[in-house]
Amino acid sequence: MKIHEYQARDLLAQFGVPVPAGTVVDTPEKAAVAFVELGAPVAVVKAQVHAGGRGKGGGVKLVRSAEEAGEVAKTILSKPLVTPQTGPEGVPVHKLLVAAGVDIAKEYYLGMAVDRANNCPVLIASSEGGVEIEQVAKDNPDAIVREPISPTVGLQGYQARKVAFRLGFKGKQISQAAKIMTQLCKLFIDTDASLAEINPLVVTPPDAENPDGRVLAIDAKINFDDNALYRHADIQALADPAEEDASEIKAREHGLSYIKLDGSIGCLVNGAGLAMATMDLVKLHGAEPANFLDVGGSATEEAVTEAFRIILGDAKVKGVLVNIFGGIMKCDIIARAIVNAAKQIGFKVPLVVRLEGTNVEAAREILKEAQGGLTTMQVGTDLTDAAKKITAAVAA
Ligand code: GDP
Ligand code: MG
Repeated sequence: MKIHEYQARDLLAQFGVPVPAGTVVDTPEKAAVAFVELGAPVAVVKAQVHAGGRGKGGGVKLVRSAEEAGEVAKTILSKPLVTPQTGPEGVPVHKLLVAAGVDIAKEYYLGMAVDRANNCPVLIASSEGGVEIEQVAKDNPDAIVREPISPTVGLQGYQARKVAFRLGFKGKQISQAAKIMTQLCKLFIDTDASLAEINPLVVTPPDAENPDGRVLAIDAKINFDDNALYRHADIQALADPAEEDASEIKAREHGLSYIKLDGSIGCLVNGAGLAMATMDLVKLHGAEPANFLDVGGSATEEAVTEAFRIILGDAKVKGVLVNIFGGIMKCDIIARAIVNAAKQIGFKVPLVVRLEGTNVEAAREILKEAQGGLTTMQVGTDLTDAAKKITAAVAA
């Protein structure tokens, strides 16, 4: 699950990480009022969307007056925001964060993630923050520090200080940065996060009170492990349905694991492994899958019919591939759902069905009887045959 930057900043603040004050607004007028209330000479107006790279897409702007805050807010709210992470159509912006602007002497990257190879959390840090960290990792991997963390004892003081030294923090910055690392690590573990990033973590220029500057978080991105959400009602409450794909929400309501993709072949499969293999074979034979869809073992006829409704409701779908290896899932349930979908929605695009396993004979009987209403249907004898048939049918 993803949350907005303003929610991530609130969480960081709760764990003791210093973040500049800010207000969430949804109109230009409220943005202007927020500027006045912040009382800072400079504020930053930031689009709140579940996508990064907003700065590059014009979704982060510095403003110096209430009037300018209103104008910038109007511009950002008026059209979809296109960033390197959104795709060319962009995403609508409903909310803005108006935050106190910060003078930046240097930008750093700080993140917590799961190191799957070493089976532990890992602290990732770099003195090359601000820009896309993926690019730094590619061009200059030595600029990225990785510190594995014991899941039982958490980040140790010596580790945090070591990373702070490696990043080049000086004087009083060292203890500030080390404290932030410890707090970020605690947040990551306590909330069952899968990713927690501060990019950029900044050092402000020196002033009379802070001769070494202050270390602050001015952007945050936190993702949570969906499988652990049941024990975090407070985090579940942060979900924003406006940011999620409507068909993915619907699929979840019916207990289906569905992820929309960009290709043209709708796939209906049981089992995550088989779904992955099916997508691989579609690609191998020259087409692109339109979705990942695992109906699971215990889906009802209604849920599977709903799955077809979701797939056929996607305008990009030019063909549908059904690949079922019936174990707990019975092939006749799938066959009945195909017949329902044909009646209720209609298969105007080619359909290739490959069924094996439990109750397959009954399923074949059902499909045979319904053949008149399933004129675009072909039967696949095995997975390769089915993948070849659907790619050929769509190309034709
Ligand atoms: P992102 O592009 O979605 O990652 O959004 P960020 O919040 O990271 O903002 C992008 C960039 O805008 C940062 O790397 C900063 O360089 C700049 N920026 C954001 N907030 C401030 C601020 O308060 N003051 C200054 N001077 N720059 C800022
Ligand atoms: Mg950022």
